[in-house]
Parts: sequence; C-alpha cells; structure tokens
Amino acid sequence: MKAVVFDKELKLVNDYKKPVPAKGEALIRITLAGICNTDYEITKGYMGYVGILGHEAVGIVEEINDEDQSLLGKRVVAEISYGCKDPECPYCAEKLYRHCPNRHTLGIWRKDGCFAEYMTMPLEVLFEVPENVSDEQAVFVEPLAAACEITEQLHIKPFEKVVVLGDGKLGLITALTLNAQNIDVILVGKHQNKLDIAKAQGVETFLLNEFKIEKKYDVVVEATGSISGFETALALTKPRGVLVLKSTVAASKEFNLAPIVIDEITVLGSRCGQFGAALRLLKNERIDFSPLISATYNADDAIEAFEKNKEKDVLKVLLRFSEK
Ligand SMILES: [Zn+2]
Ligand SMILES: [Zn+2]
Repeated sequence: MKAVVFDKELKLVNDYKKPVPAKGEALIRITLAGICNTDYEITKGYMGYVGILGHEAVGIVEEINDEDQSLLGKRVVAEISYGCKDPECPYCAEKLYRHCPNRHTLGIWRKDGCFAEYMTMPLEVLFEVPENVSDEQAVFVEPLAAACEITEQLHIKPFEKVVVLGDGKLGLITALTLNAQNIDVILVGKHQNKLDIAKAQGVETFLLNEFKIEKKYDVVVEATGSISGFETALALTKPRGVLVLKSTVAASKEFNLAPIVIDEITVLGSRCGQFGAALRLLKNERIDFSPLISATYNADDAIEAFEKNKEKDVLKVLLRFSEK
C-alpha cells in the first residue's frame, strides 16, 4: 500500500506492507488525513520516531478482528493513543490511556500512523462519524478534542473572561471551540486574515498591538508556542487566575516565574482530549473548520503537501488517500 514514511527523511513508499488487524482491532481504509505541526516536528527528529506518519484522519472500517462487528462499514475517526492494557497498569485501570507510560500513539510513538491507504486501531478508540459531518470537518476532530480538553480540566464559569493568545491553527481551533461551548472568549493574534476566520464565527478578536495588556483575565490560553507569547499570557492573567499552556513552548530559555508566585497563578498543562465531546460539537454544527483548510493534495503528492505546510500563512493541509 501507499504510505508516507519518515525514516531519516520523509518519503512516499508505494509498496508498504498492508497492516493486519490484531485481536480487538479494526482495519481502516483512510479517506482523508490532515497534516499537523507535530508531523512536521517529527520530520525534524522530534520523539525519534520512525514509521508511517500521521494522527489526524477519517476512514472506513473494512475488517474487524473481533466478535463485535458493529463498526464494520462505518466511517470512523480514532483517538490517537491507547494504553498497554496490562491489568496491573494503574493508568489503564483508570482509563487514563493517554498517560499510560507504555502507551502507543498513532504516528508519533510505537504505532504506525494514518498517512497510508490503511491503518489498524483498537476498537475502543474508534468513534463513528455522524452522518451530517463531512470528512473535511471530521478530520479536525483530534485538534478539536485537544481544545475540548481545557473544559474537561477546568470549570470556566459563565461570568469569566478567557483570552486565547495566538492565531495559528492551535489558537484558532481553541478559540472557536471555547466559543462553541458558550464561553466568553477573546482571540488575540498578529494576523488580521486569521483573526477574521474566528470573527466570522462570533469570536471577539484583537490584533496584539491594539490589545491592552492588563492583568484582568480569569483564564489565558497560551497558543503561540513562543517565549514572548508565554510572557504576554502571564501578563494578561489576573491574580489567582489560570494560565493554560497548550503549546509546548521550548523549555530551554530562562524566564521569570516570580509573577506566578506573586499573583498566585495556577499553571495548567493541557494536551489531548476525548473524541466524544468533539464529535458532538461537529454534529451540532457549532463550528465550521472549512476556512482553515488551505489546500488538499492527493496522497501521491504528499511530499509536496509537506512543503506547502511549511509556508507562512498556511493553516491546514489535507491529504486524500481514497474516495469515500
Ligand atoms: Zn495533531
Ligand atoms: Zn497502561
């Protein structure tokens, strides 16, 4: 089968071995997949990963190795991590698969990814895509779920004000998601064209240089991925407020943590989320991700698609592996 593989370099392989589902797994024919910044980081050596890339995709279940055949023929998305399933593992026992130290993560760690004609995944991480949700919307479910994780971790009250800092994919998806969850959210960024995407869906937006930096926001989400963004986020968080870290800001630089102590700020790390809630938001058509799609490439042009993904101002680049 066709697969986009990283092994020292990024390559398109045409005769990759088609996977066989193990007991409790399904074989999924990929229709549409999305390139994420994590994929790009991996091509620069992040995680030391070697194998098929990709963790954002929609596909059709073609085969199931289990008595339970209920998902056969269904259109599905897959949560990206599954645990070791060792009965002794305390994380798996509590269903915290995403934190299991021996977890497998699609296209990132110990598991071939979804940039291929086929992938296998355990049935328990598969979710049927509602009829009214297109492939183009469903392919966003993973970053959408990651944005939903904030409200799983933190109770944001109706009268609280939230700022999302950063208007890249991460910031846009986070702001659109919080807005769809009826949270009072402001998106602050440096690009009017990107801010306008959120504004068109009802999010209040500001250019950074026109936004007054004041310590008055209950919750501030850092989604810039830069140290200066972290510092600005801290300067916006009110005393006793919560600073949510969504991007893995390069941890190597020194910065001043004293304001966290002085203002008694809670710092919350936030990563992946559950797909159930994300799919409900899509089903209810509370968010439209189509303005975030910059280009769609056929799988044969995957290398070109990765090049496109590097360009400035490009948001989501999609890869088509097969028709529905
Ligand atoms: Zn991703
Ligand atoms: Zn485990």
